[in-house]
Amino acid sequence: FLSLPLQAKMSRLVQARRLEGIDKNVWVEFVKLAATYSKVNLGQGFPDFPAPDFLREAFTRALGGENHMLHQYTRAFGHPPLVKVLAQFFGKLLGQDLDPMNNVMVTVGAYQALFCCFQAFVDEGDEVIIIEPFFDCYESMVKMAGGTPVFVPLRLKAPKDGKLMSSADWQLDTAELASKFSKRTKAIVLNSPNNPLGKVFSRGELELIADLCVKNDVLCISDEVYEWLVYDGKEHIRIASLPGMWDRTVIIGSAGKTFSATGWKVGWTLGPDRLLQHLRTVHQNSVYHCATIAQEAVAQGFQRELMLYGKPDSYFVQLPRQLQQKRDCLVRSLEAVGMKPIIPQGTYFLVADISEFKSDVPDVPSSDEPYDYRFAKWMIKNKGLAAIPLSAFFSEAHKNNYTNFIRFCFAKEDATLKAANDILQKWKKEKTS
Ligand code: PMP
Repeated sequence: FLSLPLQAKMSRLVQARRLEGIDKNVWVEFVKLAATYSKVNLGQGFPDFPAPDFLREAFTRALGGENHMLHQYTRAFGHPPLVKVLAQFFGKLLGQDLDPMNNVMVTVGAYQALFCCFQAFVDEGDEVIIIEPFFDCYESMVKMAGGTPVFVPLRLKAPKDGKLMSSADWQLDTAELASKFSKRTKAIVLNSPNNPLGKVFSRGELELIADLCVKNDVLCISDEVYEWLVYDGKEHIRIASLPGMWDRTVIIGSAGKTFSATGWKVGWTLGPDRLLQHLRTVHQNSVYHCATIAQEAVAQGFQRELMLYGKPDSYFVQLPRQLQQKRDCLVRSLEAVGMKPIIPQGTYFLVADISEFKSDVPDVPSSDEPYDYRFAKWMIKNKGLAAIPLSAFFSEAHKNNYTNFIRFCFAKEDATLKAANDILQKWKKEKTS
C-alpha cells in the first residue's frame, strides 16, 4: 500500500464513448463572450423583464405560507395540483379527456422532458429525424441515447423584390422529408413555433408530417415550448390534435417560456399513458423530482389562466401582444443598419441576414470559422451587441450553407431594445460618414 505513489495519475480514458463529438457547445463560448464584451445582450433566449406579479406572488405564498409540506418531496411524476390543472387546461385545448396521473408528467424544464423522450424511445441504431435549424441539444441527446440523427433542412425561398422575408418563407421540401423516413426511423422531432427561426408550422405542413408519421409508424416528439408566442393573428396548431397523432405524440411544454420564468425550470410532457409510462421510468431513475414550490406556483398560474382563457387579462393574450411590439421595434432597428430581418411568426427570436457586411468583418485566412461566427464575435467585440450565429443550429454537414444569418432574442425590456437601437443607429452613422 505504502509503495503506491501519492499522485498516481489515471491513464485510462475516463469519459464514456457516448460523449464523443458532443463536447463543444455554442452557448459556453458565446455566453462568455457576451458577458465579457457586450453592452446589450440579445443572444441567449430569456426575458430580462420580470415574470408576472401573479406568478411571483404565488411563489412567495408557497414559500412563506402555512403549508410547510411544500418544502418537502411531492409526487415524483408531478405535484398533484399542477398535473390536475395541466390536464384540465390542455385537455380542453386538445379535445382529449386527460388523466392527470397518467397523461401528464412534470419535468425539470422542457430540457429534461426532451432527455426523457430520447432515453425512453431511442435504441442503438434507431434513427431520429430532426428538422433544421433546430434547438441544438436535440442532436446531442439523440446521440447520447445511441441513436442516429437524420437531418432535413428548412430551405429559405428567395425573397420577392423589396419585400421583407418572413419565417414562413423557410419551407420543407415534401419529397426530401419523405425520403428521410426509413425502417430504422423511430421518431421525428417537431418544434413549432421553431427556435431559432420563429417559424410557426401551418396546418398543411403539420398534416404532411403527421401523414408520414402514421404511414411509417413513427413517434412524434413535439416541442411546443413557444406555444403562446404567436403573432399577427397566427394560430398555434398542436400536431397531436390531427388524426392518428395523439397515440404517437409526446407534447413538451415549459413554464419558463409560458410565464417568462426560465430559471424556475418547470416543464411538462403530455401524451398517452402507453408512451408516458416509459418517460416515468427514465424520470424516476434519473431526476426523480422537480422543485415542489415552483410546481405549486406554476399550478396557481395555470389556475388563473384557466379562468381567464381567451380574455384580455390573460397572460397568454398579453404576453404575445407585448412581444409583437418588441419584435417590430427590433425589426426597424436592424433594417436601419442594413441587416435584413426575417419576420418571425412566433417565438421571441428573430433571424437577420448579414450578407451585406462581409467587407466589414476581417477575413481570417488560416481559420475555417464560418462567416456568421466571425461576424457575431466581431459585433460583440466592436459594437457591444450580442447575437448568436445561425449555423450553430444546423448539423455539421449542412452548416456551411447557412452562414449568412444571426439570431437575436427580443424578449427584452424596452430600455434594452432602445440601447440596442442606439448602438445600431450609431453604427449606421459610422457607415454613412
Ligand atoms: N425547447 C426549445 C425549442 C427551447 O428553445 C428551449 C429553451 N431555450 C427548451 C426546449 C428548454 O426549455 P426549458 O428552459 O423549459 O428547459
